[in-house]
Amino acid sequence: MTTYRNFISGKWVESTSTRTAANVNPANTDDVLGTVRQATRDEARAAVEAAANAFRDWRATPAPTRGRIVAKAARLLEENKEEVAQLLTREEGKTIAESRGELQRSINVAEFCAGEARRLNGETIPSELPLNFAYTIKQPIGVVACVTPWNFPVAIPIWKIAPALVAGNTVVFKPASITPATAVRITEIFEAAGIPAGVLNLVLGSGSEAGDEIINHPAVKAISFTGSNGVGIRLYEQASRRGAKVQCEMGGKNPVIVLEDADMDLAVESTAQGAFGSSGQRCTATSRAVVVNEVADEFVQRLAKRAQSMRLGAGADPQTEMGPSVDENQFKTVLSYIDVGREDGATLVCGGERASVDGLDKGYFVHPTVFDHVTPDMRIAREEIFGPVLSVLRVRDFDHAMEVANDCEYGLSSSIFTNDAARIFRFVDEIETGMTHINSPTTGGEAHVPFGGIKGTGIGDREQGSTALDFYTDLKVVYVDYTGRKREGNLY
Ligand code: NAP
Ligand code: MG
Repeated sequence: MTTYRNFISGKWVESTSTRTAANVNPANTDDVLGTVRQATRDEARAAVEAAANAFRDWRATPAPTRGRIVAKAARLLEENKEEVAQLLTREEGKTIAESRGELQRSINVAEFCAGEARRLNGETIPSELPLNFAYTIKQPIGVVACVTPWNFPVAIPIWKIAPALVAGNTVVFKPASITPATAVRITEIFEAAGIPAGVLNLVLGSGSEAGDEIINHPAVKAISFTGSNGVGIRLYEQASRRGAKVQCEMGGKNPVIVLEDADMDLAVESTAQGAFGSSGQRCTATSRAVVVNEVADEFVQRLAKRAQSMRLGAGADPQTEMGPSVDENQFKTVLSYIDVGREDGATLVCGGERASVDGLDKGYFVHPTVFDHVTPDMRIAREEIFGPVLSVLRVRDFDHAMEVANDCEYGLSSSIFTNDAARIFRFVDEIETGMTHINSPTTGGEAHVPFGGIKGTGIGDREQGSTALDFYTDLKVVYVDYTGRKREGNLY
């Protein structure tokens, strides 16, 4: 049985902790992948210190050289794509097609970031004064902590670690406790790509202990966090109090709007994909369908039919359309929200219970669930469930749909189904989300396009795309005066 190790200062080291946890396949809890020892506070501190010691040399390494290591990691990810995808499915439960997609996204992001290493350009700015100019340079910050969730345990670490390294920072990587195996593989890939000792460190431990130690360590100058709002906001409070830079990508409650002229086949299939893909465990998952009355009966009926036809099973089976919830906690959370929906008076159309037939009884499977006649004040319309549960909210017309869609503390993703250009552009203008999709699911994104949310979802710079390096660099402004004389203008 594998016992996962921490990677500190270029060495794989066994934790001395006596607190252990089993890494379990959520599709079949008899299948145990390995054991994690939860890193102690001392071990977390050692990782931060290793990163701090490695910073000087890494900062002095030319950016294109740093980029070549990230490019090598991209090639190694590609070579090991199938093996890592299989591991991801076994550890997290998503279907093998979804895992392969996540691996490809990770490869694309790493390639993109490697290219950015040759574009760490600043600006040259003409001056108000004669014989003067100014320019900007982008510089690394220092030790960066990457704190990541379990739902994209390969892609999210890569989209934080790759830009952090390219920018010249050293990294302490604290993955989610329940997905240690993929975190180890990612780190091994960077090791094989030639990352110098101490530049990337891995700490496998609980958020409340190892995580807490890392984010409060004074040598950690920036923290990139993806996860839940509860944890993210607390982390932001703590770290910002000591002046650390913080980026938080948090929860979502993503709406799809379906208008009367929508292509119904497309709207139903895309909503099912968005709501039930990855078992509803994407931050961009569709969790509210805001549908105009005129087509609501048809939409709900067809969506329920699609939900009931979904093939549940182990992700490793290529026939499977939807895998399990990731663990017992998440499974119980989903089932308890289903109870809340019922108690609050929503109409349960389909699903609503655990799936335990056909060998699914050893996994955390919940049938795809649709609630109709959900009202905006109900908890299932407001809170992130992170499971295969869709709430349908019926509305009078487009204006009412916009009002309901925007009545939400989160602002990650959204989509609309209509063929009316005027309403599409009003929707794009007025919808309060950081990303939006036209006639396609709320999920999905591309490696070279910025990613992130507004309102309660996002704090700080956007990840990926043209803005990927912003968070990981400090901007320095340089004024150059070649008059050789005492300054006479510009005296403020
Ligand atoms: P989580 O419980 O908030 O955990 C996220 C990470 O923070 C984990 O590594 C966790 O460690 C760590 N952590 C917990 N408490 C901490 C503390 N006190 N100090 C430092 N670190 C701490 O989130 P999750 O359940 O893993 O992921 C699901 C959430 O992520 C959902 O809300 C989803 O919407 C969000 N998400 C957002 C995006 C986006 O881009 N907006 C993308 C993906 C996911 P442990 O695992 O040990 O608790
Ligand atoms: Mg697991």
